[in-house]
Amino acid sequence: MRIVALEEHFTVPRIVAGIAPDAIARRGFPGPGVVWGQTIKRNELADLGDARLADMDASGITVQVLSVAGPGADLVPGQPGIAMARAYNDALAEACARHPDRYRGFAHLPMLAPEAAADELQRCVEDLGFHGVLVNGATDGRFLDDPMFEPILARAEALDLPIYIHPGIPVHPVRDAYYSNLPGNFGFIMTQAAWGWHAETAIHTLRLVLSGALDRHPRLKIVIGHMGEALPFMLDRIDETTANEAKSHLSRTVKQTLVDQVWLTTSGFFTMVPFMAALMTFGVDRILFSVDYPFASNARARAFLDALPVSTADRAKIAHGNADRLMRLPV
Ligand code: ZN
Repeated sequence: MRIVALEEHFTVPRIVAGIAPDAIARRGFPGPGVVWGQTIKRNELADLGDARLADMDASGITVQVLSVAGPGADLVPGQPGIAMARAYNDALAEACARHPDRYRGFAHLPMLAPEAAADELQRCVEDLGFHGVLVNGATDGRFLDDPMFEPILARAEALDLPIYIHPGIPVHPVRDAYYSNLPGNFGFIMTQAAWGWHAETAIHTLRLVLSGALDRHPRLKIVIGHMGEALPFMLDRIDETTANEAKSHLSRTVKQTLVDQVWLTTSGFFTMVPFMAALMTFGVDRILFSVDYPFASNARARAFLDALPVSTADRAKIAHGNADRLMRLPV
């Protein structure tokens, strides 16, 4: 079975080395050698060659759609940020050219320069053959509904390719108010995979709905990971409590907008309860297989895919069919 995974990460250490360490620290990234439940997978992230392919082969994963993880060009203002994003994208394009049947790309953008970011997205799609863009959480404390990012939303909609909203570390005031003064490393873990990443990405997605951004861009396609970042569980509650306001400010209900314009991936979530919630809210056509390599295990994700209580046809949609159609992947 063809298997496409689309929340799969890489980095380029020589490019990260060009980002000011204090900008990295302010954004909340851990320093070298810090652990968060497991050692950060620096070696695996940096590999775009044989080791990554061998791990994919061992679990029968056909294609990784790759995106930048960790510190990136969204921390770097002005021309240096624009040049840095180009360097990331060119490095990814080289890897994709070496293994065109195995690697595909999401654009990495200079988010602090949104007009240039929109142009870089277009270059990535038209010149490098990429399939959308992945954004790592808030940029300088702002979410994608901020008017400054309008050029990026408009360009993604025009190109008819998705924006993958990936979690980022919560902004500084949130880290202080919600996650400080806990024993040991709990606070740091809570800002990230235990809670904070997911809560913030759900808020990020909801802000795109509530602000009217998705009404203004009705053909814009949003992808979120982690089985929908808890939105499937919360969907009816959100819809009920926003119903009256939505009549005044939106063209659709919040739930309708989400199921019209948002796709979910399985990244990092390999248990059945959240899958059933996703299936019963967004439906099988909106669920796409992903691993979150190298932070999650290809083998565990594959075993979960094989164990899903769905028909053969629906398993194929989740494994590759939905992704192939959404991102116009060559098959
Ligand atoms: Zn991820």
